[in-house]
Amino acid sequence: MANSIGYDDTPILPGTKWHVHDGNRPQPPVVTPGQSTTIDAPGAPPSDAVVLFDGTDLSGWESREGGEAGWKVENGYMEVVPGAGYIRSKEEFGDCQLHVEWAAPAEVRGESQGRGNSGVFLMGRYEVQVLDCYDNPTYPDGTTGALYGQYPPLVNACREPGQWQVYDIIWEAPRFEGEECVRPARITVLLNGIVLHHATELRGPTSHKVLTEYEPHPEVGPLELQDHGDPVRFRNIWYRPLKGYDEE
Ligand code: MG
Repeated sequence: MANSIGYDDTPILPGTKWHVHDGNRPQPPVVTPGQSTTIDAPGAPPSDAVVLFDGTDLSGWESREGGEAGWKVENGYMEVVPGAGYIRSKEEFGDCQLHVEWAAPAEVRGESQGRGNSGVFLMGRYEVQVLDCYDNPTYPDGTTGALYGQYPPLVNACREPGQWQVYDIIWEAPRFEGEECVRPARITVLLNGIVLHHATELRGPTSHKVLTEYEPHPEVGPLELQDHGDPVRFRNIWYRPLKGYDEE
């Protein structure tokens, strides 16, 4: 352990001087987000959005094993039921613009990775970290909005626990030719309207304490939400397939 919030017995991330989950990596500076109409009520999805969760039920979701999604739905949001496991959308998709709203528990419990932890896993593999990092330092590549184990967010734009927070993500899936990754995944992430990553190329799927490598997978995959043992809430989840110019 480097210190109480990270590791120094993990591999060095190539091209950096930092270990995976290095507690000594600089903390992302705190930025207070501006006010947004989405704090108290979710915004309406755009007309061409594919709505994955509109606040009413989990009919579009299943457990990671393909069974019933065992999370709670009430008051227009879904909430992690600790122990129920990850859930994933039945819908599978690749390149997209993704919108997800989430809230960490208002009652603060635990610290570092143990406070309001969940995650948004694109294609069931690539995590954008969900965590309550309001006044809660942790290893930077595990901070709210981190590309977990790879890149810390440029800034810490967390609202207070209990408040609704907004991810807007632009996702380009990795491309494979046979066994080879010929173009890494590329991701842009905004939290509460603030850029955390801009067209960042992922090193591979999310892993813990080890370096990651791409493995070929289908062109589409589900959106997966993490059960990390904390009752984190989600609402207003939709995506728009991302297409090229002049593409139908
Ligand atoms: Mg997580």
